[in-house]
Amino acid sequence: MRKPIIAGNWKLNNTEKEAVDLVTALRNNLNNVTEVDIVVCPVFTVLPVVHDVLLESNIGLGAQNVFWEDFGAFTGEISAPLLKDIGVQYVIIGHSERRQYFGETDEMVNKRTKAALAHGLIPIVCVGEVLAQREENKTFDVIQIQCEGAFAGLTVAEMEKIVIAYEPVWAIGTGKTATPGQAQEVHKFIRGLLAKLYDENISQTIRIQYGGSVKPENSAELMSQPDIDGALVGGASLKAEPFIGIIQNSCSLAQ
Ligand code: PEP
Repeated sequence: MRKPIIAGNWKLNNTEKEAVDLVTALRNNLNNVTEVDIVVCPVFTVLPVVHDVLLESNIGLGAQNVFWEDFGAFTGEISAPLLKDIGVQYVIIGHSERRQYFGETDEMVNKRTKAALAHGLIPIVCVGEVLAQREENKTFDVIQIQCEGAFAGLTVAEMEKIVIAYEPVWAIGTGKTATPGQAQEVHKFIRGLLAKLYDENISQTIRIQYGGSVKPENSAELMSQPDIDGALVGGASLKAEPFIGIIQNSCSLAQ
């Protein structure tokens, strides 16, 4: 039985005060949740204050990116040992906005994933097709290439630690959600691919989140699909109420 994982990707949002208010509300309202792993991924600058609010809570802390080198002349970058040093546990890697605006390639995703794993961070590796690829029936090909690239050279033991987020790019921040059937089909495909690349055990134990305009109104149906193990949530994670609603829906399903 896979434990669902729901992560909030705050993207480039929330001042220090807004961040503290938001995580304080989450901590106070979600302190009884054990059925679901909960993670928030703020911007780098507020990671330390958010970390302090979340101390001894059931909410994990994630970053939104990580560089592959540990230290050195890499102006503007943040590395895995530095994130680990301030208590970060998870890191989003290969988000479609990084791929689209910052030229992120599958090779970079692979290097970031290896660096995160080497320092004990849990990578949340994002994959997903753009609308034109879906319309040309290339979704499975694109997902296969992204997965093979992202996970190249990883051992079975390393794969066991990874979370995958399937995020159709056309559904991110657009209000368009993949239907539960469309999402399930790709999640099942990823599981089948992992069985071929690794083994059946990895394929059945790895958690695959869905991301793309998830909100309380659609989350229950998405997360009731057999191969969907939680959500990576953007817009609806910026306010306490909808994010809590998504988590509560998932808890009801898990009971
Ligand atoms: C995301 O940023 O990963 C995301 C899925 O955003 P949204 O929920 O706003 O579509």
